[in-house]
Amino acid sequence: MTDPSSQWIVSDLGRQMLADGLTKGTGGNISVKTDDGNVAISPSGMAYDEIEPDDVPIVDLDGTQLSGDRKPSSEFRMHTDILRERDDVGAVVHNHSPFASTFASIGEPVGPSHYLIAFIGDEIPVAPYETYGTAELAEVALETLGEEYNACLLENHGVLATGATAEAAYEVALMVEYCARIHYYALSIGEPSLLDEREIDTLLERFANYGQTQSADDAGSEPAAAADLSADRLAELQPNREAVSEFGRKMLHQGLTEGTGGNISSQNGDLVAISPSGMPYDEIDAEDVSVVDLNGDHVAGKRKPSSEFRMHTDILREREDVGAVVHNHSPYASAFASLNEPVEASHYLIAFAGDQIPVAPYETYGTAELAEVALDTLGAEYNACLLENHGVLATGATVSEAFEVALMVEYCARIHYQARNIGEPNLLDDTEIDTLLERFADYGQDH
Ligand SMILES: [Zn+2]
Ligand SMILES: [Zn+2]
Repeated sequence: MTDPSSQWIVSDLGRQMLADGLTKGTGGNISVKTDDGNVAISPSGMAYDEIEPDDVPIVDLDGTQLSGDRKPSSEFRMHTDILRERDDVGAVVHNHSPFASTFASIGEPVGPSHYLIAFIGDEIPVAPYETYGTAELAEVALETLGEEYNACLLENHGVLATGATAEAAYEVALMVEYCARIHYYALSIGEPSLLDEREIDTLLERFANYGQTQSADDAGSEPAAAADLSADRLAELQPNREAVSEFGRKMLHQGLTEGTGGNISSQNGDLVAISPSGMPYDEIDAEDVSVVDLNGDHVAGKRKPSSEFRMHTDILREREDVGAVVHNHSPYASAFASLNEPVEASHYLIAFAGDQIPVAPYETYGTAELAEVALDTLGAEYNACLLENHGVLATGATVSEAFEVALMVEYCARIHYQARNIGEPNLLDDTEIDTLLERFADYGQDH
């Protein structure tokens, strides 16, 4: 007897795929292994927002239908072959997401210009073209994935993403599209800076241990140091924790980040409220926000602080004028980070960040080295910088100010990208930038 939850998952994730823009119409399909070793798979030719759990057919690992009134997706073979041959895979997501499909249509892999490629492997490889729905397509897809890739492109067609669970496969599909998007932007105006093999090995090792994604139902435990905090001190931190929760949601809904990427911190004296590790922004309430001291030691809150806490605490400790830090992977800014090129002063709003948005040289995420190069690059004068092959760091006196700087970083990066794409941007000269920086220095105090 099949447990019905796998049918729910197929129905839910289909809607999510549509909402996240990973597919259009009825394109793509999702499969999940059931408890008894069979497969729940999207039905053929049904719109995603109409698929109810009861519409999801069950097939065995050879693709023979076991139950359900609807026919399984015509692309079932890609799913069943992979679920049969790869023991580590419990779910497969197939879609036609636009940036990844662009690489599929030129038959070229997505190169390692962003560290999140490690969700997939050392690149996103391309399986050679075969007609959709055929056994031949299933075969080339399986061959291209091999043992080591979690996803591949299908030439002139789309994307195949895998994971141990449906959530993991879905996150891989999101990361495929994100990495393809960054690589596309970078390639269209320059030469992306690629991660070397050694660094990719380091990342793959770290990502293999990743999967400890938290959810709202599996709270951790209060650190021992929490006992030393008075109720009054905790109450004082409440507005900081609320701001981290509120602006995390804004960051997601305003397209500055995807999934659990990025993090926010807000300082209150010698303590810092900071996003918890690996939790989706929409689930983070004020009480989920971690509290650390300025050395990054966890002092309150049941959840572990973000693994990138050092960038936050180092900056908050060293820069007197900074009371909040926003880190994200916003796409246009991240494209410049992947080119290892600063965003230059082609729009006057650059003055929110400085005379440009400089790039901190690459270091592995979550390390003390990354915190150090970020702090060095910001120096005393920049309110934001890019992190090579990674993303953005924005600062401000308050979370709301740091968030505005992050929005302006993405805006200026987008304008500069688009200008470069059609011509040669006019850059503001030093005298004008000085005028702007002076005006902007008085800005924050007006409101
Ligand atoms: Zn397809
Ligand atoms: Zn990051």
